[in-house]
Formats: sequence, structure tokens, C-alpha cells
Amino acid sequence: MDSGRSLLVVVAHPDDDAYGMTGTVALHAADPGFRYALVHATDGAAGDIAPDFPATRETLGSVRRAEDERAWEVLGKPPDRHEWFGYDDGGVAAVPFEELVDRIAEIMRTERPEVVGTFGPDGITGHPDHVRVGAATDAAFDRVAAEPGSGLRRLVHGALPQSVFERWNETRRRKGLTPWDPGEVYHLRGVPDEQIGISVDISSVALKVVAGLREHRSQQHVIAMPGVTDEQWARSASVEHYVVARPHRPVGTPVLTDVFEGLD
Ligand SMILES: [Zn+2]
Repeated sequence: MDSGRSLLVVVAHPDDDAYGMTGTVALHAADPGFRYALVHATDGAAGDIAPDFPATRETLGSVRRAEDERAWEVLGKPPDRHEWFGYDDGGVAAVPFEELVDRIAEIMRTERPEVVGTFGPDGITGHPDHVRVGAATDAAFDRVAAEPGSGLRRLVHGALPQSVFERWNETRRRKGLTPWDPGEVYHLRGVPDEQIGISVDISSVALKVVAGLREHRSQQHVIAMPGVTDEQWARSASVEHYVVARPHRPVGTPVLTDVFEGLD
């Protein structure tokens, strides 16, 4: 069935898109009417380089772009449109806010996505690039949604429910790893479970999502728990959670099971 569903995802770094909304994209990949656009604010050139990885500070950005594109091919749904803004990794907060909002708004106007996904104010890890990209996307959404016929229906923020955060930290303690401290930048943080408005069961595509994550080879030492198997990783990544940022979702509203649910 040709649904005409459309999604715009706005993130900061290559690999931000590899978790979060990837399962949601994979679930809709077989729908011929599904359109998916992706924006990266940076190429991730300031990312960590493992001692044995064949990249330099000069080449890491292009390496990570290629990894990201390959990850989407492996997942089976390369973006229909992929924009690289080319800002410095770690420097998004130094970009004039209005410039960032303008660029994202322009993509919203041409794509007219029903659903837009980005970071919430927690940035998942508190990374300043994440927080800034999320805030600019929210502002762009509000601006464009107020224009006649924008087509924008819903804005969602990828999020980690507090209960999942605590479970993951239990696993880290059991394995002798330092638990995530939500007060630290670059550490994961949760949002109260009752704020989660959409929880998508992606277990049917979780191994594909992990295959995509594995393509981010330069960052495996950062994103994969040491020694984790594909099956273990797939189990821990079997649900994608979102806060519904727009329109306002009253507390106690039933949790949806797909980002497009209820938009008919
Ligand atoms: Zn990131």
C-alpha cells in the first residue's frame, strides 16, 4: 500500500541516526510511498579515534560520512534526501541560532514531512551539539507549522525512559563498567517514563538496526558495549521511545506504538 508517509530526522553527528529512529525507518522501508529525509549538522570529525583505526583527525569526517551512508544501505532504506550542513563537530552551538533554524525550516518547507524527529532538551547524552540541533529543529517546526498547508503534523524527540536507563546502568554495574551519570556531558540520561508518548516495538528489525550500527566502524569502541553480540545488542535495542513534543500531549494519554499512529 502506498501510504504517502513522510519523515524528517534532524541529528548532529553520523551515528546519532543509527539508534533512535532507525528501527522506525526500517519498519516502514517496504512501503513504497514512505519518504525519509535526514539531516546531519556535522560530519563527526571530532569523534574519538581508536588507536588501531585507520583514520586521522583530517580524514575522520569523510570516513564517518561514508560509514553513515553505508549503514543506511545495510539497513535497506537509504534516505530519499540526505543533507550534510557541514558545521564543525562540537561547534554547532557557535552557529547563529537563526541560521540553523532557517536551514532546517527550508528543508521542512520542501519536504513537508508529516513527522519530524530530533533530540529533546536532554540531548540523550547532554552533548551541546545535540541540544542545539534539537532546539533549532523545534523552533523551525513551530515556524513552518504555523504557515498554511505546511503538512507538518507531529514533532517527536528521541528519548530513553528512566526505567530503561536504570536497567542499562544495572547491566553496566554487573559488568564492572562505570554507570552512566546523567549529570555528566556525554553520558546517557533518561526522561520520566510518563513523558514517553510513543514506544515502537522494533524487535522484528532489531538485527538490521544492529547491522547498521556495526557499520559505524570508527566508533565501535564508543557505541558498542565491550564484547556485546549482535543478538544481545538487538535485545537491548528492541524498542524505540519518543516524547511527543508537538502537538502537546496531555499526561495520561495512551502510549502510541508508531510515530504515524493516529495521523490519518
Ligand atoms: Zn552525537
